[in-house]
Amino acid sequence: MQFEDAYKEVYEIVKPKYKLFTAGPVACFPEVLEIMKVQMFSHRAKEYKQMHVDTVERLKKFLEVEKGEVLLFPSSGTGVMEASIRNGISKGGKVLVTIIGAFGKRYKQVVETNGRKAVTLEYEPGKAVKPEDLDEALKKNPDVEAVTITYNETSTGVLNPLPELAKVAKEHDKLVFVDAVSAMGGADIKFTKWGIDVVFGSSQKAFGVPPGLAVGAFSEEFIEIAHKMEERGWYFDIPRYIKVQKEKQGPPSTPAMPQEFGLNVVLRIIEKMGGKEKWLEMYRKRSEMIRNGVREIGLDILAEPGYESPTITAVLTPEGIKGDQVYNAMRERGFELAKGYGEGIKEKTFRIGNMGYMTFEDIEEMLQNLKEVIEELKAKV
Ligand SMILES: *Cc1c(COP(=O)(O)O)cnc(C)c1O
Repeated sequence: MQFEDAYKEVYEIVKPKYKLFTAGPVACFPEVLEIMKVQMFSHRAKEYKQMHVDTVERLKKFLEVEKGEVLLFPSSGTGVMEASIRNGISKGGKVLVTIIGAFGKRYKQVVETNGRKAVTLEYEPGKAVKPEDLDEALKKNPDVEAVTITYNETSTGVLNPLPELAKVAKEHDKLVFVDAVSAMGGADIKFTKWGIDVVFGSSQKAFGVPPGLAVGAFSEEFIEIAHKMEERGWYFDIPRYIKVQKEKQGPPSTPAMPQEFGLNVVLRIIEKMGGKEKWLEMYRKRSEMIRNGVREIGLDILAEPGYESPTITAVLTPEGIKGDQVYNAMRERGFELAKGYGEGIKEKTFRIGNMGYMTFEDIEEMLQNLKEVIEELKAKV
């Protein structure tokens, strides 16, 4: 390297300093980082096409997409949130947005800023959407075209009962759009079986890949609707994406090639670990270990029992202690957790993510430090 100094100057700033228990970006598998270093080449070259087709095939299997298409976008997950509305909801059309936290609220904004109307079914932080409430809301609003569901609400650490909710939406003959950004890779998705029309995730969450790549799956019914949708834009034009993917084995504009290669490596790691069930079991174990550890310290979890997230835990701080204090004290000890996020809970919670690359020993070490931090902070109150 001729300009090694340039590299070193940047490295000094960005070099790893913390063990990550973040909400994303998360720590990546070393094998992923290694493949992402390869020299670039044309995305219309046969080597890229081979990788792209293989990644899409592996994702179809992982997400159980039996009918429909999987597409990869050089954007973060929110791009596909917008694509679901622009391609799937008629102008001025109505959407039932279910809200259990900050990311449900984002879906509402995306609906409204794209000239569609949102009606909401909203819960207080920590709660999950209940199928009977959804049924009720759909009876009251028979004119909505779709229901949006945050599979895993990252701000509260709640996993919605997606199969049950999708079933209710389908009984009412509605499209089902699922924000699975912090769930995809960490919680099961059976796309076709559960009756999902759009689901999307981001590379930087439970897959443990750097940011910049979004994954979306689209049902045949959705694609048919999208074909007839006017003014669906260019960049996130789903029918165009599908057409180009068939013709050129890649997306219409330049893909996030390194991230795609990284994701392909992760999908192979999952296979080598024994498949999806084994991999998801690892996520369940990690999050269980965190919840048990946190309770042993004497802290409460925000999520209502039975709906705890397998990828992130929102923890309530003890009386007199702010979430930021815990976050800062843990950072000083070399652990980066996630701050509280969202209206009404930002100050009184902090979050512990368990996505991406980490060992069970890392979790034990983090919990031991958290115990000491909480004791120290309590002593000062
Ligand atoms: C992180 C996150 C998002 C935003 O994803 P981006 O990739 O940053 O666009 C949306 N929804 C949920 C549930 C998330 O956790």
